[in-house]
Amino acid sequence: MNRIDLHTHTSFSDGSHSPTALITLATQQGIDVLAITDHDTTEGLPEALEATKDLSLELIPAIELSSQFQNREMHILGYFINLSDSQFQTRLKTLRSTRIDRIVSILERLHSLGIDISLEDVQKASETGTIGRPHIAQVLIARNFVKNIKEAFEKFLGSRGKAYVQRPVPEAQEIMEWITDAGGIPILAHPYWEGFNKEDSAKACQTLVDQGLQGLEVFYGTFSARHISFNLGLARRFDLLMTGGSDFHGTLKPDIALGKGRGSLHVPPKVVEKLRAAAGY
Ligand SMILES: [Zn+2]
Ligand SMILES: [Zn+2]
Repeated sequence: MNRIDLHTHTSFSDGSHSPTALITLATQQGIDVLAITDHDTTEGLPEALEATKDLSLELIPAIELSSQFQNREMHILGYFINLSDSQFQTRLKTLRSTRIDRIVSILERLHSLGIDISLEDVQKASETGTIGRPHIAQVLIARNFVKNIKEAFEKFLGSRGKAYVQRPVPEAQEIMEWITDAGGIPILAHPYWEGFNKEDSAKACQTLVDQGLQGLEVFYGTFSARHISFNLGLARRFDLLMTGGSDFHGTLKPDIALGKGRGSLHVPPKVVEKLRAAAGY
């Protein structure tokens, strides 16, 4: 049986495993097709590709980008990205700088709450220099302000936390253009359709398709069977590609297992065949 996981993060964004360590784990878990989808960066991919050189494991170059759509944050996955596309890399650099601005704003809020953490402290918590909220969480844990990541997000860093700052991100349409400009396929990550009723989700999906969306991440690590079948219905209705993955972050999201999600993840091999064909492979 083929095992497939098309949504994973490494230490180049907010995962705990280096690309090499992730490839080793994927091999141990019997995974045949893996996509690394780090946030805002493809910089972990050369190392990962090198690590798969003598393996039968297929690695799909990919990325996950945040965007806004009708006042909501939506994540867009891009598969089969051309890594050496210089325009795409320049766009990513701009995105990463807004990430740092946001961290600085969060640190300012924490300061006003009596918690002093410097940008340097956060950078030290990241092995690769890419920083995100989980790295602030690590500093909060190390200094005993919170017990664990969950508490760090609940109290301070999550959307209901006291130090939460929203990041200004491009519109979904623009992000999808970036992906297609770089030869990639834009897919909506973990479609929760939060705040949309059934018919509104279909309308939103139609709008996204009109803007360039090519598929939905139907098989997601934490989705219930009901949620999967809802997204499956949308994918069929709009004749979209489907993908699936665990959204593995290693020890930073310990309840999500590579290739398995919370245990029941199964990504059908046909999904990858269609994705490959759409990308021209
Ligand atoms: Zn996401
Ligand atoms: Zn993700």
